[in-house]
Amino acid sequence: TAKADGKNAVRSCGQSIVEETGRRSRLARDLVLALERQELRVDYQPVVGLEGRRILGLEALVRWDHPELGAVSPEEFVGLAEEEGLIVPLQRWVLRTATAEHARLVAGGRDLRMAVNVSVLHVQARCLVEDVADALERAGLPADRLMIELTESVFADDAELLRSTLSDLSDLGCVVALDDFGRGASSLTQLAGLPVDVLKMDRGFVTGIESDGRRAALVAAVVDLGRTLGMDVVAEGVETPAQLAALTALGCDFVQGWLLGRPVAGTLVAGVVDGFDPTVLDGAAPDGGTA
Ligand code: C2E
Ligand code: MG
Ligand code: MG
Ligand code: MG
Repeated sequence: TAKADGKNAVRSCGQSIVEETGRRSRLARDLVLALERQELRVDYQPVVGLEGRRILGLEALVRWDHPELGAVSPEEFVGLAEEEGLIVPLQRWVLRTATAEHARLVAGGRDLRMAVNVSVLHVQARCLVEDVADALERAGLPADRLMIELTESVFADDAELLRSTLSDLSDLGCVVALDDFGRGASSLTQLAGLPVDVLKMDRGFVTGIESDGRRAALVAAVVDLGRTLGMDVVAEGVETPAQLAALTALGCDFVQGWLLGRPVAGTLVAGVVDGFDPTVLDGAAPDGGTA
């Protein structure tokens, strides 16, 4: 994959294979301890609805501050957890942490949806639905406030298992999102037949959208596709007012990205939700806005 190539490229111009293997086995060993020692945490990033001009939801993003190596990116350690058979315990912890935080926010009177990323390996382990139901029950939350994000890689796997898992999540009442849509090779015929509620359009679509007409046309097509299939479309990685303006003009209703808010710790998230300033959206009005 492109990701793996990228890692190899970094290695060949910097670290040796020995160094990388050393880091890998160390992280693999330490990840087990990190789960026990509470070195992991979950940050939360807002998802904004352009119509309601408010934060409609939060995405839970796992973080690991290694005591000696510093912050390890989730792309690195989630991948490692997958390879080391640790993804299910890691994911259970994230699900419980995020739903517990969500319950506190809801108890404070906030109307929000929480999104949690899950690995396709959790689907293959056949306990995802059970773990989701368990987390909801512990937190005392209704299922329709929880969104489960799966990446497109799900299409590469057992189609029948995927269909039954998504149906079970849907029957439970959860919202199902397809993450990083457009980054990999989705099968559109498969997409049309699956109980997916939300398409999260990959950041790659948003980059350059304000100046590249062809990219804008692609985004318009994805927004249309979502509408046709009855799915909401969320644009990821919105960093500038010009990008937001382009997305607004193209009819995209939901946005996420640094412009609207960076991921923040659980201790800060209530303040971010309550203090959201909708005038950040005004610069995106077609006439340049009034703010
Ligand atoms: P994702 O689910 O697509 O999450 C979006 C990523 O984009 C996050 O990276 C977020 O911090 C980053 N991001 C958000 N807004 C912007 C922006 O405006 N500009 C840029 N450049 N980046 C932005 P992060 O937190 O490093 O997570 C990377 C990936 O790791 C996630 O991609 C997700 O696939 C995975 N991940 C994170 N948490 C979990 C988890 O709890 N479980 C599993 N299985 N995977 C997770
Ligand atoms: Mg996601
Ligand atoms: Mg559904
Ligand atoms: Mg994504």
